[in-house]
Amino acid sequence: MLELRPNCELCDRDLPPDSAEALICSYECTFCAACVEGVLANVCPNCGGGFEKRPIRPASAWREGTGLVNDPAGTRRRQTPYTRGEIEAFSGTLRDVPPQGR
Ligand SMILES: [Zn+2]
Ligand SMILES: [Zn+2]
Repeated sequence: MLELRPNCELCDRDLPPDSAEALICSYECTFCAACVEGVLANVCPNCGGGFEKRPIRPASAWREGTGLVNDPAGTRRRQTPYTRGEIEAFSGTLRDVPPQGR
């Protein structure tokens, strides 16, 4: 099950489960749209992959055992271990390669 992480790993802004600003990589690294566009250039600093919009999990259990009422969002806040300089250098090497070619 997808872990709905509570914050942007770079700027630490809150990204609640209903946020339209949350983007994830295939490892569920989670960043806000502003950081992905303005800093990361669609390059995850932790794995080099691209980002997609995080799906919104329904609040209600429309099917038994599902929804945030049964599977709530995660609470562990994370922060990328890389410095801003490291991140910019890393994205600089990959930003012009589409995710399919990385
Ligand atoms: Zn951010
Ligand atoms: Zn990643």
